[in-house]
Amino acid sequence: MATQTLPEAEVPVISKKPAIQYVYFFGGGKADGNGKMKDELGGKGAGLAEMTNAGLPVPPGFTIQTEACREYMRHGGVSKEVDREMEAALSHLEQLQGQKLGKGENPLLVSVRSGAKFSMPGMMDTILNLGLNDQSVESLAKRSNNPRFAYDSYRRLIQMFGNVVLEIEKKQFDEVFDAKKKQKKAKLDTDLDAKALKEVIAEYKKVVKKHTKHDFPQDAHDQLVMARDAVFRSWQNDRAKTYRRINNIDDMLGTAVNVQAMVYGNLGDTSGTGVGFTRNPASGAKEFYGEYLMNAQGEDVVSGVRTPVPILELQRVMPDVYDQLRDITTRLENHYHDMQDFEFTIQEGKLYMLQTRNGKRTGLAAVRVAIEMVDEGLIDKEEAIFRLDPNQVVDFFVSRLDEKDIRPEDVLTSTGLAASPGAVVGQIVFTADEAVTKAGHGAEKNPVILVRAETTPEDIHGMEVAIGILTSQGGITSHAAVVTRGMGKSCVAGAGEIAVDERAREMRARGQVFKEDDWITIDGTTGRVFRGKRKLLPPDPQNMAKLEKFMSWAEPFRQIGVRANADIPRDAQKAREFGAEGIGLCRTEHMFFAADRIGHMRAMILANNEKDRRLALKKLLPMQRSDFIGLFEAMEGLPVTIRLLDPPLHEFLPKREKLMVDIASLSSASAKQKKTLVEDYRDYGAKAGGDLKKLLPQLLARVEELHEFNPMLGHRGCRLGITYPEITEMQSRAIFEAAVAVEKKGGKTHAEVMIPLIATVKEMENQGAIVRRVAEEVFREKGKKVKYHVGTMIELPRACLVADEIAKEAEFFSFGTNDLTQTTFGFSRDDINKVLPTYLREGILKQDPFASIDRDGVGELVSIGMERGRKTRPDLEVGICGEHGGDPSSVEFCHKVGMTYVSCSPFRVKTALLAAAQAGATDKLKVEGGRTK
Ligand code: PEP
Ligand code: MG
Repeated sequence: MATQTLPEAEVPVISKKPAIQYVYFFGGGKADGNGKMKDELGGKGAGLAEMTNAGLPVPPGFTIQTEACREYMRHGGVSKEVDREMEAALSHLEQLQGQKLGKGENPLLVSVRSGAKFSMPGMMDTILNLGLNDQSVESLAKRSNNPRFAYDSYRRLIQMFGNVVLEIEKKQFDEVFDAKKKQKKAKLDTDLDAKALKEVIAEYKKVVKKHTKHDFPQDAHDQLVMARDAVFRSWQNDRAKTYRRINNIDDMLGTAVNVQAMVYGNLGDTSGTGVGFTRNPASGAKEFYGEYLMNAQGEDVVSGVRTPVPILELQRVMPDVYDQLRDITTRLENHYHDMQDFEFTIQEGKLYMLQTRNGKRTGLAAVRVAIEMVDEGLIDKEEAIFRLDPNQVVDFFVSRLDEKDIRPEDVLTSTGLAASPGAVVGQIVFTADEAVTKAGHGAEKNPVILVRAETTPEDIHGMEVAIGILTSQGGITSHAAVVTRGMGKSCVAGAGEIAVDERAREMRARGQVFKEDDWITIDGTTGRVFRGKRKLLPPDPQNMAKLEKFMSWAEPFRQIGVRANADIPRDAQKAREFGAEGIGLCRTEHMFFAADRIGHMRAMILANNEKDRRLALKKLLPMQRSDFIGLFEAMEGLPVTIRLLDPPLHEFLPKREKLMVDIASLSSASAKQKKTLVEDYRDYGAKAGGDLKKLLPQLLARVEELHEFNPMLGHRGCRLGITYPEITEMQSRAIFEAAVAVEKKGGKTHAEVMIPLIATVKEMENQGAIVRRVAEEVFREKGKKVKYHVGTMIELPRACLVADEIAKEAEFFSFGTNDLTQTTFGFSRDDINKVLPTYLREGILKQDPFASIDRDGVGELVSIGMERGRKTRPDLEVGICGEHGGDPSSVEFCHKVGMTYVSCSPFRVKTALLAAAQAGATDKLKVEGGRTK
């Protein structure tokens, strides 16, 4: 367009370019946007712009940017400017294509797809074939010379539009379609002919009318506006919200909408559609990987309705197209310096690229791809270290099956797809809701395996809590496969030999019927499924070597230490192997859960006078001492932080309710029942049925005494040691006797004695004095001194606020963020799950604060506590030992506030090491934490 420059003053305000460009066109070899504009165009839109600019065969279209979605969220609609720019872009598209949307003999049809900054596969909505109506479907039928295809496209539009835009349950359409198939005795969807599909369309329209009281919109522009708004709304649907929560994606980003000319993979035998990866997303091997279907639309490949064909087969069927696809995808990988996940369509022999993005991959694949890309010169090591999400490190430690344990009759199938690695044993559940109910929480966690014909994004909450997923349908790119890989969760997909009937809650395989709660074993590494609980073996050391190499690139950037929470020597050993630099928390009460010890612990708790308690403690002393020796030996002079007893005492005793029931039923119990009861209460002194009558009421009385309505905040932490100083004495004695014994044998020790749940400096003084007194006693008796420190756990808000005082007595701090979260929020850590699902759904909380540190509240208290503590003791050692110590985002926080170390469970040590290194590298290299999303 010719432009004429006007003098400044004469430029009318309204002709000024709007501050925001809402709509970006791509097509005809160039695009308004580019690949860097993910914030505005979303990942998909930026990719389409980039591919167009690179001259790749991309169907033209336009992207409505994320700001329009944010506007929609703010105001419930978009501004006029968005409508105006969309109209202009549509005209441009119509001109370029020589077609009119939904009109004329060759109608333009478009797809309308979501596309956020970070990929959220399947979480938001898509509409295909938009522009079809009663007239344009006839034109399409004529032009394609394929009425079946035209009617099939139209019925798909009504179904998708009906479901996504008009919010009619998908089931309503499925029922119509299934009934038609039954009526026509059609086995496959493709068996329905044009006439049958026309009948389906008429029925679908009735469904629309019945549910919305309006006809299916015939005006293509109306369709477009409604679809665009529905895609914006889909940003706020439950599954998208859940996905964002799990993946830590900001709710305020919004999605872009991509409107693109349709190309068809279902125009006959020279058309097809597929998806693929430039490298194997499960193993990382450099091989062209993917699947496709001829005469199909994209949905068919990923939904599991038809089983797709491996992409290598395309080389035989259409060699030219295959070569072109390989060439393009190789270029794409070189261009983006990362493994690509791509979608393509072949329309009557011509290849179109629909999408490319950085591919999701398992942890094993991420490391292999990163190392090989460094070797290939595609990326450097500093870039490579961000290519593994620390949460995926666990993939290296997943279990394998012990093949020796497998008998042929245990195998239910060996032809499932190895969708996401790891073997797991669990109990069957058939729905996501059941998975949530049965999986339980905390100490009551049960391993459940979610078994479904196929998963959909609606199952995301169940997939999150299940330890494994088994599906009978769907390919390697199906929803279950993609999502579990991202979660690092074992998955066998498309196990066609297994029939799953979710309604009847049954799974059938090899003539056997399995019900809810039955045990099975699935092996996501090989795609096999077994009945019962099979034996599992630890992970493959070969992969560990790769991880070590990768970690050696990341490690130099790490600034904070990583310790492990380990209570027994075996766990301490494991922690060392994983690279722990000490023990950050030994929960001494956990040492007493073993069968041969719990009796003494119970006797100690049940004692109602000091003499009896001392007697029981005496029995516990040698056990504690030998455990401490084991810990010191495993750690070879590295710090071992031993927390004095902090037991919710009732955990060691029988349940109050059970006792009540047993007492009530005792008078009418048969001899056999009494025998069982004697077994149940043997630890408490029952030897024969006659003992029960006296024993049970006594026991109940003590249990009542210890019962606390909120068991996590009663007689806990230092309060126990203050009330019963002999407990602190015994534990201190065990620690120092153990340390002296180890050092006398030539070993090194570094004991850190930690007093839990301190709120006032007086508590610290009280307990610190006992520990130091006993230390001196032991050193005198044994004639040897060892190095030790006495410090505290900071677990209460008050402790953070008076940390300067506490630091006068405490030589180190360790933040117990489990209790600190509990006491800051006033949430009971045991009962949070009654509230949490609602809080997350309503967006009141973004994340479970017990999993990832709440930076604004709990984090702020941590910062205050550190600052005040270090005011008194500038070199104060500060760690964290709550569950957060193994959560990458919390580790990043700990790095930022300058903690000395984080401490987490042994299996999370490598995760924490990598998260800490990435946090250090982000600072040092001044990059934005560049993990592949
Ligand atoms: C904590 O409160 O963060 C902690 C580590 O202690 P526990 O979980 O044993 O209460
Ligand atoms: Mg605690």
